[in-house]
Amino acid sequence: MYDVVVVGAGPSGSTAARECAKRGLTTLCIEEHGTIGHPVQCAGLLSLAAWQECGVSQKSVLHEIRGARFVTSAGDVHTLDAGVPKACVVDRGILDREIAASALAAGADLRLKTYVQRISPSGGLITTGVHGREEVQTRLIIAADGVRSGIARLQGFPRSPVLLTGLQAEIRWEMDPGYVEVHPHASPDFFGWVIPAGKNRARVGLCGTKEVQNRFDRFLCRYPTPCTHHVTGAIPLGVMPRTYGKRTLYVGDAAGLVKPTSGGGVYTGVRSARHAADVAAICCERDRFDDGALSLYEQRWKKDFGRELRLGFRLFQLRGSLTPEEVDRLLSVLDDPSLLDSIKTYGDMDRPRRLFLQLAKKPAFYPLLRLLVQKGLHQILR
Ligand SMILES: Cc1cc2nc3c(=O)[nH]c(=O)nc-3n(C[C@H](O)[C@H](O)[C@H](O)COP(=O)(O)OP(=O)(O)OC[C@H]3O[C@@H](n4cnc5c(N)ncnc54)[C@H](O)[C@@H]3O)c2cc1C
Repeated sequence: MYDVVVVGAGPSGSTAARECAKRGLTTLCIEEHGTIGHPVQCAGLLSLAAWQECGVSQKSVLHEIRGARFVTSAGDVHTLDAGVPKACVVDRGILDREIAASALAAGADLRLKTYVQRISPSGGLITTGVHGREEVQTRLIIAADGVRSGIARLQGFPRSPVLLTGLQAEIRWEMDPGYVEVHPHASPDFFGWVIPAGKNRARVGLCGTKEVQNRFDRFLCRYPTPCTHHVTGAIPLGVMPRTYGKRTLYVGDAAGLVKPTSGGGVYTGVRSARHAADVAAICCERDRFDDGALSLYEQRWKKDFGRELRLGFRLFQLRGSLTPEEVDRLLSVLDDPSLLDSIKTYGDMDRPRRLFLQLAKKPAFYPLLRLLVQKGLHQILR
């Protein structure tokens, strides 16, 4: 019998496994694929804080990013230059494998090519895979099985309210390796991106809820060059109503713990995994796995970044109601030196709330604030 079985060896699952093992818990991580980090479903853009949370070497880092170029619907470019590296572009395959290796080094067991199919009446996980059909007994499950979480389905837990579709192509393209490009007009309910991905390579993609394939095809047409790799994936927005229960803690995409302003899930996934490991250690020590004991996990991640996700989700809802001209007006904040200063000082890819509150105090931001109020900002600040 294991103390903890983690289902899924993405960044959230491998971090949870490593942190549980470090806390002295007997831990098994189960992954359906034969290779960790494959297939890649990610643009690989992480804040430096997110990358540090992963606890890995520099091996996966392709570029350091110091700024972003926002392209308006008319093709004008507003540049945000932080002056120092704030983010990095990673090779997700290498990153995921390094986190998994650190889980093994910490003492966790790992079973690849093994799929969790069912949960037995006694609470064991029934798996199929290279070792045939098995039943694994555990005191606690950490569900890190991604956006389509089969564990949540098996346990009858309601899921995230919104599912974005993301499409991306890796192309031969030369661009400044220190900047990412953001194209809001490419996807009217989210945005498109162009991200440097190694020498003369870039990742071009977008996310959205409607007409995603058509919009992506139109966006990609601007880059008439061979594509070497296509990515299709889904991103959950909005956290599942309850992230614990039935001897299980839900982390990362499985719980919908994704930043709704960017679709990035590595930072929140890895942080949620650390909270889950802390609570797993407490529950094992006290030998208590009832919902009351597990609820400590939700209290902890909410205290850490719950308000950021709430604000982010409301901004996502508001984004869909903005016209291209209104988005362009909002991008003009980058032309005002006093606002740009605040953005440089308080801007944080993972925690946008502080910047938002700072901007709201600046007179130069008032016209834009009025626009946002007309669009329902008061509901955002509730
Ligand atoms: C197009 C696109 C671009 C993105 N770009 C970024 C970005 O730039 N930055 C960022 O931070 N995030 C980005 N994301 C989101 C990011 O990829 C996810 O948030 C992140 O991978 C979540 O990690 P996770 O470990 O929670 O889940 P996953 O990485 O999805 O891992 C889940 C694992 O569980 C395994 N699994 C599932 N079911 C079972 C089962 N029954 N048995 C055994 N194993 C199972 C899967 O094989 C998988 O390995 C992007 C997503 C998409 C789709």
